[in-house]
Amino acid sequence: MCCAVPGGYCARVDALFNLPGIHVTDVDWRAESAVGGEQQRLVLAVESGPGAMGCPACGVVAASHGRRIRRLCDIPAFGAPVELVWRVRRWRCEEPRCLVGVFTEEADLAGARAKLTTRAVWWAISCIGRDTASVAALARRLGVDWHTLWDAISPLLAELADDPARLEGVAVLGVDEHIVRHEALLFRMEVRDLNRSVVVAAG
Ligand SMILES: [Zn+2]
Ligand SMILES: [Zn+2]
Repeated sequence: MCCAVPGGYCARVDALFNLPGIHVTDVDWRAESAVGGEQQRLVLAVESGPGAMGCPACGVVAASHGRRIRRLCDIPAFGAPVELVWRVRRWRCEEPRCLVGVFTEEADLAGARAKLTTRAVWWAISCIGRDTASVAALARRLGVDWHTLWDAISPLLAELADDPARLEGVAVLGVDEHIVRHEALLFRMEVRDLNRSVVVAAG
């Protein structure tokens, strides 16, 4: 399929977005005010491809139950923050004896209640570990407030500091495991400082 076909996905834009199974259906730039003047934000409408879905409990093929819009912050692109407008698919199990009812699609794109995509969280963590970027600077680049970013990364920083082995398999998420293990050793020292900065910000 290609954007030349009505309703088709664009292989070139999907390649640029680079998240298998997720398609970009619209691209827009939105001007907004920011510290230091106006900035542009790249707004991408995304969705998973169509296909049959089985009920997670009984396995019966479920009926489509419309969409729910979910907004997520992704990795900055072309020097601008990126907002995803994810049209999350919803399904309804029609098996009368099944108690599941309506359920929502899950994707590797983001955790269930996350405000950042999974790859944006790991991008921020790698910037802190490798480039010693500050949480405030990364929040600015991502176009989210400080607390939104901190809430997303602090549980993972704590896990890395406690036990690097617990994050084995993160290569699947797009981060080289060797780098994560190496950073975990640095975080063991740094997390205390980061926690101190929370107290400073809250006061
Ligand atoms: Zn195309
Ligand atoms: Zn069911």
